[in-house]
Formats: sequence, structure tokens, C-alpha cells
Amino acid sequence: MLKKIREVKADLFIQVVVPSPLRRTFDYRPPDNFDRQLLLPGVRIQVPFGNRKMIGFITGCSDSSDFPPEKIKKAIKVIDTKPLLDNHLLALYQWAADYYQFPLGQALQTSLPGQLRKGKPAIEPQTRYWQLTTDGQGTDLEELKKAPRQQQIISLLGESEKLTATEISTALGVAVASALKSLQQKGLIEEVSVGPQLVRPDPDNLYGQNQPLPLNKEQQDAYTVIKKGLASFNATLLEGVTGSGKTEIYLQLITDILETGKQVLVLVPEIGLTPQTIRRFENRFNREIVAFHSGLSDSQRLTAWLRAKDGSADIIIGTRSAVFTPMLRLGLIIVDEEHDGSYKQQDGFRYSGRDLAIYRGRQMNIPVVLGTATPSLESLNNALNGRYHYLQLTQRAGEAIQPEFQLLDIKGEALTDGFSDALIAKIHIHLENKNQVLIFLNRRGFAPILLCRQCGWVATCPRCDTSYTLHRHPPKMICHHCEGQKPVARECPECHSNELETMGLGTEKTEHTLETLFPDLPVYRIDRDSTRNRHSLHAIIEKIDVGDPCLLVGTQMLSKGHHFPNVTLVAVLDADGGLFSGDFRGQEHMGQLMTQVAGRAGRGTAPGEVVIQTYNSSHPTMQSLVGEGYVPFAMKLLEERRLGNLPPFTYMALIRAEAANRLLPEKFLETIGNEIQPKKGLLIIGPIPSPMEKKGGLFRFQVIIEATRRSELQQLLIDLMPIIENHPDSRKVRWSVDVDPVDFT
Ligand code: ADP
Ligand code: ZN
Ligand code: ZN
Repeated sequence: MLKKIREVKADLFIQVVVPSPLRRTFDYRPPDNFDRQLLLPGVRIQVPFGNRKMIGFITGCSDSSDFPPEKIKKAIKVIDTKPLLDNHLLALYQWAADYYQFPLGQALQTSLPGQLRKGKPAIEPQTRYWQLTTDGQGTDLEELKKAPRQQQIISLLGESEKLTATEISTALGVAVASALKSLQQKGLIEEVSVGPQLVRPDPDNLYGQNQPLPLNKEQQDAYTVIKKGLASFNATLLEGVTGSGKTEIYLQLITDILETGKQVLVLVPEIGLTPQTIRRFENRFNREIVAFHSGLSDSQRLTAWLRAKDGSADIIIGTRSAVFTPMLRLGLIIVDEEHDGSYKQQDGFRYSGRDLAIYRGRQMNIPVVLGTATPSLESLNNALNGRYHYLQLTQRAGEAIQPEFQLLDIKGEALTDGFSDALIAKIHIHLENKNQVLIFLNRRGFAPILLCRQCGWVATCPRCDTSYTLHRHPPKMICHHCEGQKPVARECPECHSNELETMGLGTEKTEHTLETLFPDLPVYRIDRDSTRNRHSLHAIIEKIDVGDPCLLVGTQMLSKGHHFPNVTLVAVLDADGGLFSGDFRGQEHMGQLMTQVAGRAGRGTAPGEVVIQTYNSSHPTMQSLVGEGYVPFAMKLLEERRLGNLPPFTYMALIRAEAANRLLPEKFLETIGNEIQPKKGLLIIGPIPSPMEKKGGLFRFQVIIEATRRSELQQLLIDLMPIIENHPDSRKVRWSVDVDPVDFT
């Protein structure tokens, strides 16, 4: 009797968040044999969910529940013995889930190593090896004459430091378990457990031997300002032209932070996480550096995550999702190339790694440094209005000097496959001076259009509103929007003429043109197709690094990270696309891309030249970018945004819907839009078809919501979410909410 009363008193409900689209926590009873001390927020727990088992996180405990007691199930087991995510990190996820209107349970999966998602223990996966003991090292093999197998094992282990049992038995071609046991009993060998290696010994690596460079005046000034603020939260926009020595400043700040015993988180764009980047850090710091790149195995990723969490790794480098890395002693966050589009996730949990870095900095009361040559208008605005420190580096560090810009108007010019005579002449001069030339064209493939000369038919993707791009290596027609492929058409399906012709330029065609124009020199193409595996990019870059005259042609892959000291001429073949884009960020992105590409010129000692071919040389945007440089250009754009009531002066969200049935998404968004009460300071646009209305076989529509206050937009979205989720068609269309959208296609 007494026992029963005690049980009632001890009624305990665990709130659990599971990876489901439902935006709430679920109550469970404790599992059998539970330890009350372990039921802490951030601890993983396995629970029954529907007819499945799921791994969720505990968010809290309570002695009551709003659910009928008979419906509350018992949890299966508690997985961790201490929280996997601390309260700060849980709060970061919660804030992000709320802000981006995404279910917390699914958001929590972001950046969690796969093995932890699956419920594996949060310990470094170990491999067990056998090695000789000190006694074993001095074994007289003669003494083991009667046990030839043991003899073999001893000599095998003498040759290689340590081996797994499997390796030993494979090498000897026999089962070895009992021999190993005997040797262990004799004290000649011992078993050791070792975690996965995160870094492979690299002959090019100096492991901390690279000394800091003496900073120039501008660098010193910037460094001093940031260093003063290292003890608490503040954000800095470090705007410095390509090659101005921003990275050198980061490295010196990191040195300071490491000396205080804290860790550093470095976020880089997707394309920036190259072996060269990692090596630059390793060369400077003889510390444990963890880089979350796609080449890590599951075990390595788990190990890296755990070492960041327990504080044994000092420097963590990663792309946007690394902003969620647990870190025991975080002291500084650096976001390199903060303007880069890859910081915004474009599907599912549509967060901005850069913006969350700022949030995390404030939350942890630590500084955040945003570095770039071409600030986003958002960051520039924050720098100009004083929310961020604004530091500028206007000169290149070291010996390199800023390249000279030139607009080349091609109106009325006869072009040779996109090249004007003036440009060809310039290329000749640079090559004759034994330099390298880089041609930028942001379109891969051979040509974007294949058409029939007789009837005008164009090969188009049946699933998207777009033409197929013709590829030659290997020959195929590929849709760049859904990746759909087809063999190259040989005749027109409409009129059966075989007079098919390409229009427009891609990098493959430009490569071919350059090979014809400059037959004596190598031409290297760098785009997604030519660099499908890491190795091929490395091989091309090694050839370029030799420094002999050559031509490079490539897409925006060329605009970042790589350092080509012998490139003295950068030419942009077609600069006009971004000028007339329907997207309000089109000109900003064009300016960033041009400036970043131009930054590849003259990074060595020879001066560089940048030539931009355009049909619109008198266009004010083009004039401003080329004549005044990126920041004055960006300030003009910022003024236009202010006048147009566009971000960053207003706050925007996009509700998208798509379905195979063309009518459905529009109707769905129409009824959602009707739920929004008109209000001052609120602008609702749509539903309108997305810029690419049909993609991957689906018809796509969007509603744009613009508010003058962020809080107003947030409240509106909070009110809207249940309406969207409970809409009768919400399962028939694919819908999403995108807060602070970057990409409108
Ligand atoms: P960013 O990150 O702005 O592109 P980096 O830090 O990569 O610039 O510097 C560009 C080049 O200039 C690198 O080769 C770097 O070693 C060199 N450099 C940077 N700072 C200095 C300095 N104070 N003195 C001499 N060389 C420097
Ligand atoms: Zn035809
Ligand atoms: Zn397609």
C-alpha cells in the first residue's frame, strides 16, 4: 500500500523533442531502471513514436502532463550519461527553429554526426590493435621455437608498430586468436585502443612552424581594434580587398585567443574549405585543428565533433552547419567571405550560418569577425549604422598591387566566339610576357541552346522551363536545373532537318575557342564538370602552379580561394547577365562576383589587369563598380534598396509551394495569403509564379511578405504556420517558408 502512494507521488513525465515535422514536444514516462539524475535537457532518449522507435532529445521534466495519462507511453531508454547538447546550444537551435519557422526536432539533426542521430554512444569510436610490450620487444625468437605461430606474430608486430587481429590473421593466412591469447598471457603483447586519426601526416605541412608576418599599418590598426574587443560580444566587418591580409589578421587573433585557453570557430563558404585553407591553419598552429569537410568518414566526423565538444580541439573549421558545433570553451567566431551565398541553406532548415554566428556570439558573449572583400548589403548596412565595427584594408599586403579595371564595350563589335579583337590582342601581350590569363564565364557546358535552323525548335527540358545545355565532354544534353539528361539530338523532332546549331557560350566552347586561337599553349578548364573529384582539381592547380604561360577558363569556382600568382590578366567575357536580373539581389551578386574574379589578377609581383566585356559600358551600375570600386557601388545599391523599401531596410519572407498540378500551388497560396490581415507596414506580393515556374516537373508559386519591422514579420509567420499546416491541401503541395530569402528562383 505504502509503495503505491510513493509511486503516484513520483509521477514523472519527460518532455522529448523528436525529429518529426510536428512543432511540439511529446511527453513520455521514464523508461525502466532510469536514473533521475540523467534526465537532463540535451540528453538523448529513445522513444516509441507511432509504430517506430525514434531518437529524441530531452528538453525538460515535469510532474504533470496535459495529455491523458493512459495515452502517455514509456520511453525505451536513456542513451547518454551527460547532455550531448548544452543549454546554450539548445537555446541556439530553439532560437533558429523559431526564427526560420522550422520544427525544432528536425533542426536538431543539423550538423549532428550521423552516428549520434542513429543513437550510437557519444564516445570516440575505437579500433583495437595488438602491439609488443617492452618485454615482447626483447623476445628471443628461439625461445618460441615450439610455437611457430606465436613466433610469426612476434616478428610481424616487430616490423609494424601495431596491427588489428584481422590484419594479423590476414597476413599469416591462419586464425590467430589462441596464439594472441597465449602471447598476451606471457606478457609479450598487449591490446591498445586507438581512435580514428583526423589528420594524415602531410609532408607539405609545417605544423606550426610558420611564423606570424609583421603586420602593415592597416592590418595593425584593424588587429588592434579587434583585439581590444576580444573579451566580450561585438561584431566586426573586416572589409579588405582580396589579398589585403585578412587571413593573416585572423591567424594572429586566433593566436591571442588560444593563449587565453579558448577555442575558435572558423566558418568558410562551401567552396572555400580546401586542403590549402586547412593547411594554412596547420602551418601556423601546432594545435588540434578539426575541419568538417565532406571527405571525413563517419567515425572521423563523430570524433571531430566530440573533440570540439570536450574542448580538446582548439580550432574548428567548417561550412555553415559548423555554426552548431558544440564547443566547451568557444572564444571567437570568424566568418570568412561572409557575403557568400552558401551560408544560407536553400532547402529544409533554411538558416543562415552567418546570421546564426552573430546570434551565437551574442549568446556566448564572445566576438564575431566577418571578413570579405565584398560585403553583403546586410553587413555593410550594419557596419555603416554602427551595429558592427567597420574596419577596412584598402591595400594588398606584401608586394602585390591592386589590379587595374577596364570596361571593353563590345556593342557593334565582331566577336570570335565571344572574344573581341581588342581582348584577343591583350591576351597575346600577357602571354608573350610569359604570364597566365584567366577567362571567366559563369556557364558550364558547351552552349546553353541547341536549336533548329529550319524551324526554330529549341531542345528544352520537359520537366523545367529551360533549354537543355549542350555538353561535349561527354556529349549529352543536360538540364542545369533538374540534372535531367538526354543524348544529343541529331535531327529536329519537329521538321526532321539535321541543321541543328548551338547558340551562346559555355566554358567547354570557350576552352575550344582558346585552343584554336592559341594553339601553342595549354588551356585549363575549371568548372564543376572538369573537377568532379577533388583529385582532378588538385591536378589542374598543380599544373597552373608551375607558373608557365597558359590560359584558364572557368566559372565562379575560379573566383574563390585559389591563389594564382602568375595570372596577370582576368577577362570577364559576358558581364551583362546580372545587370538586368529580375532578382533584387542581382546587381549585388554581380558586383561581388566580378570583384572576386578580378581579385585573382596580379596576386604575385607582376601587376594585374582586369577587362570586362559588356554591351552596357555606360550603365551607371557598371560605371560605378568599375570606376569607384565595390564599396561605393554597394553604397549606391543600398540607397536604392532604401528607396525601394527592400531588405535590409525591410524584412522579408517567402512562402513557396509547388506541385505537379499547376493549379494547386497557386490556389493553396491564395487561401494562405487571404488569411493575412492587411496592415500598415506590411506588403504581400502574390501568389506569383516563381521566376522559373516549372522545375523538375513541378509548377512553382510564391508569396512574398515584406514588413517594416522584424518583430511584425515574426508574429505574422507564427500566426500563419498553423494555418498552413492545417490547410487541407498542405499535404498535396510541397510548401516551405524561407525567412530572409537569398535565392528567388
Ligand atoms: P586575404 O585573406 O585578405 O585574401 P591573405 O591574408 O591571404 O589576404 O594575404 C594575401 C597574401 O599576402 C598572402 O600571401 C600573405 O602571406 C601575404 N601577407 C599578408 N599579410 C602580410 C604582411 N603583413 N606582410 C607580408 N605579406 C603579407
Ligand atoms: Zn526544325
Ligand atoms: Zn530540367
